[in-house]
Amino acid sequence: MPVQVLEESYEKVTVVFEGFPRVYVNSIRRASMSLVPVMAIDDVVILENTSSFYDEVIAHRLGLIPLKTPLEKYLIPSECDCKSALGCPKCRVLFVLDAEATDKVRDVLSAELVSEDEEVKPVSPNIPIIKLAPGQKIKLEAYAKLGRGKSHSKWQATSAAVLRSYPLVALNESCNNCGMCVSACTKDVFSIRNGKLKVDNPLNCNLCFECLESCQAEPKGINVKEDEDKFILTIESSGGMAAREILVQAVKEVIKLVDDVIDKFSGEVLPVEKEK
Ligand code: SF4
Ligand code: SF4
Ligand SMILES: [Zn+2]
Repeated sequence: MPVQVLEESYEKVTVVFEGFPRVYVNSIRRASMSLVPVMAIDDVVILENTSSFYDEVIAHRLGLIPLKTPLEKYLIPSECDCKSALGCPKCRVLFVLDAEATDKVRDVLSAELVSEDEEVKPVSPNIPIIKLAPGQKIKLEAYAKLGRGKSHSKWQATSAAVLRSYPLVALNESCNNCGMCVSACTKDVFSIRNGKLKVDNPLNCNLCFECLESCQAEPKGINVKEDEDKFILTIESSGGMAAREILVQAVKEVIKLVDDVIDKFSGEVLPVEKEK
């Protein structure tokens, strides 16, 4: 099977690619970080701010709150025909924040951001925005838009995207079950059970080769190498979309780039110029 899912949750997906060159899988990894669009607050109109925070600090904090993103519902502003700086209902979502502290100091949390679209909201209600002292107030409008991580990290759909080699760990007959490799390995790949060395978690291996260094058997009691035909890609979502959706979108973004090149060069081939 060329693509196999090793583990999957909303936040994280780990996939083994077999028979794909490393650079192809790496292009998917890079696209997941820099090309997959996700929602983030981009414009903030401060209507009232009597807190001790500068307007710019509040706007910056709002921009970094990860937002749930129903990708199919909105257009990237540069691809929308409105061409308006504040966008239109097809390319932006309005949030309103109206918070006040009365008798004691309090935190203003992301749950207080009221969105005009129920599907676009902070991934957690407990992200602190600012602190207000008694009598202080903040009132603002904020506009969230789709963007790409290559423009600003607030639009990065992933919190991590890692490509690693597929490890192959095997025992040899020369192993005397001394257990030195068990303590040398920090990834819990081995254990000794009933006096015998076992390979419990071969995919935990990060190919550091410390186990081979520690093994005094001759020849070495284990073989550790990378499978040159397989790679493991792990994508962690920053919360806006399921990790699986980010992976699929990343592949689509790579295909789009390749299609652009094909379109550009699919015209008539020019004749070779004759030498003068
Ligand atoms: S190469 Fe490193 S991580 Fe892999 S099994 Fe050996 S010690 Fe553990
Ligand atoms: S592989 Fe080497 S270090 Fe590990 S148990 Fe066998 S002989 Fe000992
Ligand atoms: Zn628009």
